[in-house]
Amino acid sequence: MTASRATPSSAEPNFTTRISRFAPSPTGRLHLGHAFSALAAHDLARAGGGQFLLRIEDIDPTRARQAHVDGIVADLGWLGLSWDGPVVRQSQRLAVYATALDRLKALGLAYPCFCTRAEIAASAAAPQGPAGPVYPGTCRHLPAAERTQRMAGTPHAWRLDMAAAVARTGPLSWHDHGAGWVAADPAAHGDVVIARKDAPVSYHLAVSVDDAAQGVNSIVRGTDLFATTDIHRLLQALLGLPTPAYFHHPLLVDAAGRRLAKRDGARALADLRAAGADPAALVAELRAMREALGFVLPSA
Ligand code: GLU
Repeated sequence: MTASRATPSSAEPNFTTRISRFAPSPTGRLHLGHAFSALAAHDLARAGGGQFLLRIEDIDPTRARQAHVDGIVADLGWLGLSWDGPVVRQSQRLAVYATALDRLKALGLAYPCFCTRAEIAASAAAPQGPAGPVYPGTCRHLPAAERTQRMAGTPHAWRLDMAAAVARTGPLSWHDHGAGWVAADPAAHGDVVIARKDAPVSYHLAVSVDDAAQGVNSIVRGTDLFATTDIHRLLQALLGLPTPAYFHHPLLVDAAGRRLAKRDGARALADLRAAGADPAALVAELRAMREALGFVLPSA
């Protein structure tokens, strides 16, 4: 998966007190894949007397629902997972993200983007990156006057000037428990969005800022976010934030080998709960799956 990016390793980062988190977006019901992820993050922290945090990633104003937040809390409680401290909600932290965005602007690394999704998709120049089409750079070099004029009247996102950002930080690496040291390649993602048109921040910026603010030093999440970590590593370097250790886990798949998705309602934890499933047995099964998948966590 990442062997070509692995660098000769020094030791794995070793935090004496692990602080991990589960950071779901309340845009649907939790399924078994979420339970697997939350349990692994929980177990990693608890094994060494560390802390396990719950953060609700509700920056998407059109898709986040309070009913899903309530469902997440109920599901985790049913599984017997407890978290430390208050539940942090990203929607309450917009001022903090604005400060981080201002910092990137002040460094000359951010520019407003007026393009629609359809325009970007239609651009023949848009190559594929690890997580979708790479932005072709249409708005990167707009004349200052045009930029100012359009900003006044048009909703816009903010993008990171990737080439300038990478030139500023130089080579970066991060550590994954399974893959070892990884040489980051954020440039493959192009000029990523750091503040959305419909929200004053993007996932990448919010997650980077929050993990640092909450002291999270051990991030457990699905391998679908592996390549994305290169972007987060870059933002950490630009904003002077510490770099956590990463534990990307394999994704659970159904009998047909398809990845479990939120829309796969049959496997929603709420349905299992309603059907009277035994949460302790489920937790034991998820831990056994972890072993079977070869995702073995350090015990302290
Ligand atoms: N909020 C993201 C999701 O639900 C996960 C973020 C992360 O673990 O970094 O997919």
